[in-house]
Amino acid sequence: MKLSRQISRLIEAAVSARKHAYCPYSRYPVGASVLTESGRIFAGSNVENASYGLSLCAERVAIFNAVTRNQSGLKALCVVGSKAMPCGACRQVMVEFANKDTELYLVDLNPRTRSQAITRTTVFKMLPSPFDPLASGLLPAHPQSLLRESPLPGRRKARRGTRSRKAMGTSSRRAASEEGKR
Ligand code: ZN
Repeated sequence: MKLSRQISRLIEAAVSARKHAYCPYSRYPVGASVLTESGRIFAGSNVENASYGLSLCAERVAIFNAVTRNQSGLKALCVVGSKAMPCGACRQVMVEFANKDTELYLVDLNPRTRSQAITRTTVFKMLPSPFDPLASGLLPAHPQSLLRESPLPGRRKARRGTRSRKAMGTSSRRAASEEGKR
């Protein structure tokens, strides 16, 4: 498979992240990476916990890493591991920030031979009937555009305004009721 420079870098990032997997329980290291619409790459590895249910997959760590930096539009994702395949939960999280063309690269690493078998597919092929935030009416627009249009500083500003209006309302109501007592 002929890979672009960007996709080669994406795969390298996931291979590198896999080395930092914290998986003392499963001993199943996974690396993941995402390529955002702005061309930036974010990576993650699986992080396990003694309370097993708290463990987090590499795919979600990589996606949340990108979203934390307001880089939510995903052009491509990569998962690296032995027979790497994203779980159902991670597929649903991918859908939240993917579009119909978002590519998914599955890299099957053979630790013995150190060979890589790469499969290219798309997020929506991996989860053809996802829970859709738009169809369900939970969101008026795709999460990607919501995040792009409402960067964090704007949200903070709106919250401050709301809070101050509320505070004013409360104090004026309090003043009115106190006046009423007099
Ligand atoms: Zn998962």
